[in-house]
Amino acid sequence: SNRPQTLTETLEESARRFPDKEVFITDTTTITYREFQKRVNNVAYQLQHRFNLKKGDRIGILLVNSVEFAICAYAAAQLGAIGVILNTKLKAKELQYMLENSGARVIMTNPQWWGHIESIRDAIPCEAFFVTGETVPEGTLPFSELDSQEAPIMVSAEVKEHDPIFIMYTSGTTGLPKGAVMTHFNFVHTILNYVNCLELKDTDRTLIAIPLFTISGLAAQLATFIYLGASCVLMPQYDKREMLRLVEEKQVTHIMGSPTVYMMALAEADYQSFDWRSMRRIVYGGSPMPTDVIETLKKWLPQVVLTNAYGLTETTSPTTLLPMEYQLSRKETVGIAVPNGECRIVDPDTGKDCPPGETGELVVRGPFVIPGYWRNEDATQKSFRNGWFHTGDMASMDEEGFIVIQDRIKDMINRGGDKIFSAEVENVLYQHPKILEAAIVGVPDPVYGEAVKAVVVCRKGHSMTVEELLDYLKPRLAKYKVPKYIEFTDQLPRNPGGKVVKHLLRTI
Ligand code: ATP
Repeated sequence: SNRPQTLTETLEESARRFPDKEVFITDTTTITYREFQKRVNNVAYQLQHRFNLKKGDRIGILLVNSVEFAICAYAAAQLGAIGVILNTKLKAKELQYMLENSGARVIMTNPQWWGHIESIRDAIPCEAFFVTGETVPEGTLPFSELDSQEAPIMVSAEVKEHDPIFIMYTSGTTGLPKGAVMTHFNFVHTILNYVNCLELKDTDRTLIAIPLFTISGLAAQLATFIYLGASCVLMPQYDKREMLRLVEEKQVTHIMGSPTVYMMALAEADYQSFDWRSMRRIVYGGSPMPTDVIETLKKWLPQVVLTNAYGLTETTSPTTLLPMEYQLSRKETVGIAVPNGECRIVDPDTGKDCPPGETGELVVRGPFVIPGYWRNEDATQKSFRNGWFHTGDMASMDEEGFIVIQDRIKDMINRGGDKIFSAEVENVLYQHPKILEAAIVGVPDPVYGEAVKAVVVCRKGHSMTVEELLDYLKPRLAKYKVPKYIEFTDQLPRNPGGKVVKHLLRTI
């Protein structure tokens, strides 16, 4: 078949077809495919020749949405290296585990995150730190040194389609992050599914309003639009008014984001004064979308096709999509499996298939399902069984294949698309000397869907104020994981087996 095998091939093809077209549009600059490909090659060359970076080596990428982010991702691809995609909202301790676990040899970062890296540099195996910007902190190297020096040759490595290209960390039931290993093959199949199902063209223009360190930003937006030879409008970070303005100013046709991204923009009193007539597609997903938001968007933008996308990091995201002819009539569903994907609903205890309409665990198979977790055979075996990935989501499927997400088995909170595993926050609470026991639960939130609540029991003879606990948590946890509500109590409700009965704690 003539489908591309690697991400590098997708860029080569687009640079060949559209050398002078803008691949990136930011508020202040544009960059063409030819220029982008050249800068990618410059970085790959420097890393190979000066640092001996080889196939399979890991490159830490801790960058805001920027041209540099994309350059690093595609330079990794060209070298056959693996980009370790890091969430810029994390704190030093959280990053430390990921950098140790992945064994990243170099790190690419922005000046604002350097403090985090500096504080853990003795604990991590990195050899070189590259920082963006004009002047860089002591002990680091300027990123511009990599990207502006003309490389004498085109770097090429023998990269095969089943080679890994990225590691993205997700958390889990133990609270320890797991590195989801994605291959070029996974990415190519997600790209093709997305392009075909959404009928995207090289004339499309996406606004990347969500972080590139999420799978939706990286696969469904960046990689897909580069494959198309289309353009990406970059926002360094989400800002509701910037989003409203940029769509109008840059004639954007496509956006993907969590429901919160749209809800915040629609909460602006003057949102209708922005001209969004260029828009063709709005894709939403990552967390459940309130149906009234779908109706509001449709009323404002009748020409736009609204698409629900359900997926996980482990499925390189889009696993189900809501076909356009059902955008309103089946809006309570996440749609049907993508063309080369298979979904089943199984009894989580017996593994037997559930009849249509009945709720069970959603399991998935397809070429976009990742091979497993980085150096974590146990976690891999638990989630990937007999070729089927177990999502931890409870869902039902009707006779036509439409899927409704009902609930979760995994102990996770979904705060506007940011995922928080209860155990990660509980582990930090349990390390406090005054805390005897603690539980983290999700409670309803009007803007984010869910908010984090902590229920804490202090040791005998000890007490604590909410402020004291927050002062302890804030430097140790990303802001989105810090509980919005904290309740002190004498005892946690437990079942006869000793397990905390969390649903009894879900009141504010
Ligand atoms: P991204 O971080 O790019 O948004 P993602 O949400 O696709 O990625 P994860 O962060 O791994 O991937 O989270 C996956 C979980 O998010 C799913 O298991 C499910 O609980 C929830 N989820 C994802 N998409 C939807 C959706 N369309 N509707 C409801 N829940 C969703």
